[in-house]
Amino acid sequence: AKAKFPQIKTIEGFDFSFQPSIPEAFIKELAELSFIGKAENVLFLGPPGVGKTHLSIALGLKACEKRKRVLFTYANELIEQLMAARVNGSFGKKLQILGRLELLIIDELGYLPINKEGANLFFQLISKRYEKGSIIISSNKPFEEWGEIFCDDVIASAILDRLLHHSHIIAINGPSYRTKEKMGATSNN
Ligand code: ADP
Ligand code: MG
Repeated sequence: AKAKFPQIKTIEGFDFSFQPSIPEAFIKELAELSFIGKAENVLFLGPPGVGKTHLSIALGLKACEKRKRVLFTYANELIEQLMAARVNGSFGKKLQILGRLELLIIDELGYLPINKEGANLFFQLISKRYEKGSIIISSNKPFEEWGEIFCDDVIASAILDRLLHHSHIIAINGPSYRTKEKMGATSNN
């Protein structure tokens, strides 16, 4: 409850055969959490419904079981909180709290654009955690389009530079699990 997962999802409950572009053995290796000890990041990229949030939560739960300090956030909520903290003078404190986590999960980066102020504060957060604590980020947008997410190519490449230096990238392409029944029904006709 403390980590604020929106649902409970597990590695065991993930059907890897449905999504062959996901490297099953590698995900199971990540679930052993040595990436957290090394402050490495994990990036899940891909279209909606392919399991990005599911796997992020599953890895986060494993970390909670090992008593790691974990927080699950949505990118837009996180940015809103950073901007609010900036306004009321608690940004330094907020950065410190977020900096102390062993795993910060940021979901749904890219669905909503982030303004220049938000991008700037987000960059400070990424810098704060760089080589100190792990981040899992999920995004529907390839790196080439992150300039659009942050409305600024320079800040986007500074963010990517730090995020990617020690990172594992899981690029997923395949059908949405959410619509699999409907799609199956259509293609069988
Ligand atoms: P994304 O975050 O990539 O949009 P989700 O992880 O939220 O997608 O997946 C959508 C729904 O489908 C969730 O309920 C998730 O648990 C389920 N799901 C997705 N892929 C799989 C899979 N391969 N096996 C089992 N459930 C899956
Ligand atoms: Mg998702």
